[in-house]
Amino acid sequence: MNKIRKILVANRGEIALRVMRSAKEMGIKTVAIYSEADRNALHVRYADEAVCVGGPKSADSYLKIDTILEVCKKLAVDAVHPGYGFLSENAAFAQAAAAAGIIFIGPEPESISLMGSKLAAKAAVANYNIPMVPGTDQAITDIAEAKNIAERVGFPILIKASAGGGGKGMRVVEEAGAFEEQMQLAVNEAVSAFGDGAVFIEKYIGSPRHIEIQVLGDTHGNIVHLFERECSIQRRHQKVIEEAPSAVLTPALRAQMGQCAVAVARACNYVGAGTVEFLLDENLQFYFLEMNTRLQVEHPVTELITGLDLVKEQIKIAQGEPLSFKQEDLEISGHALELRVYAEDPLNNFLPDIGRLTTYKRPQGLGVRVDDGFEEGMEVPIYYDPMIAKLITYGQTRAEAIDRMIRAIAEYQITGVQTTLTFGKFVMEHEAFRSGNFDTKFIQNYFGPESLIPTPAPEAEQVAAVLAAFIYEQARPQTAASGTISNHPTESNWKKNRSS
Ligand code: ADP
Ligand code: ADP
Ligand code: MG
Repeated sequence: MNKIRKILVANRGEIALRVMRSAKEMGIKTVAIYSEADRNALHVRYADEAVCVGGPKSADSYLKIDTILEVCKKLAVDAVHPGYGFLSENAAFAQAAAAAGIIFIGPEPESISLMGSKLAAKAAVANYNIPMVPGTDQAITDIAEAKNIAERVGFPILIKASAGGGGKGMRVVEEAGAFEEQMQLAVNEAVSAFGDGAVFIEKYIGSPRHIEIQVLGDTHGNIVHLFERECSIQRRHQKVIEEAPSAVLTPALRAQMGQCAVAVARACNYVGAGTVEFLLDENLQFYFLEMNTRLQVEHPVTELITGLDLVKEQIKIAQGEPLSFKQEDLEISGHALELRVYAEDPLNNFLPDIGRLTTYKRPQGLGVRVDDGFEEGMEVPIYYDPMIAKLITYGQTRAEAIDRMIRAIAEYQITGVQTTLTFGKFVMEHEAFRSGNFDTKFIQNYFGPESLIPTPAPEAEQVAAVLAAFIYEQARPQTAASGTISNHPTESNWKKNRSS
């Protein structure tokens, strides 16, 4: 066993803190890196050592592979944890770390590259009897041929970027007449966002639920799944509310999807924590979407229903330890919900609403967990993802977790920016959500300006929001190979996505 003594966390905010807490419990020293915009951030204060790696833009700091690895060497770091976003799905980083003799806490670079391309991933699992969304299994090169395939599959269809992630690079095409134009736009978008214009076609599933399975694999060939998370409440194809278990899965379907997820992980020799994403249609047919080769934002709900610490599991796997449990040892206990508390205005198309947290008081009490990276008076920086916190509640039943979430939202006091707390309350109180009868179109179907009582934003703040969205967009890694990118498009983009 290769005991890890010091970990550098190549990330910021709540996830950097989350990782350091588990390291601390294991007696492992921690190193934080930070940008000039994050000098006073909590993750910097929490770490045993902290090093500024550059300017505020991600490209000048959190994405600088060479600088980060130099810090590792200088401070005698044994392992690097990438968190989510940033370098977490960057095979070159995993490779460079290994070459420098530093353990990358995550899968092998080959698994990352394979699953970073949605098309390569589908090809890799083709022999494992995994249900796929009907569509093309190759990048589209001939528009006329692609149109024929689209007609055979049946409109509406979805054009997707193979290298896409974070909900970006997807276009719904309602009818054949719009195909060519949408196709061109999709390719352009894929090139500019991911540096890779490969796109393919999937049948557009009308009212799907997003169900994903958490997997863990060790270096001894053991792979287990930790059941599902449902992440159907989304804006811009991005998750806002997640839960475990799903309200719709039967034990039989759960076992079946779990086995498929393990097969997907096996197909790419998966080591570490990963997530296999599926869509579930109205007839409870499921289809493989993609695999995310990292710790997921919404991993806490799985921790609460299984009692496992996923970061500790990742570290133990990276040290070469075998998993200490088998599939049959795992059980679901209770129900957990997560609300991503973003500095966004739900009444203004969920656009970022950046500013100072003039009041910031966390909820407390039984069954409430807050993973955040802020204190009262801090600014939400315009350079990064505008997530303030993850509010997670646990209950013996789904109804109890929901009631607890409503109570916790009422206790949470945030002023200075608009947040998704109001939206969270709306969802928790909505009959469709409470009854479990909802899908990824929840926001489209039920949520609008009339759903909340608006607090009018002064004009200056609206300008700041659009500016923040723009800067975040500019700061995103341009050549990310995979689903590492979360996008907060400008308003015009958002409208385009909706109407297409
Ligand atoms: P998940 O399936 O884990 O929710 P997402 O596709 O939402 O994954 O993306 C993961 C997260 O990574 C985002 O929510 C965001 O917080 C973070 N992220 C992605 N790209 C960046 C970036 N360039 N800068 C900061 N954070 C980012
Ligand atoms: P990303 O890499 O951006 O996370 P995914 O393939 O995981 O892309 O899809 C993200 C979301 O987009 C899904 O959760 C779902 O809401 C929607 N989506 C993706 N594919 C389809 C499809 N074929 N039909 C309907 N919705 C889809
Ligand atoms: Mg996805």
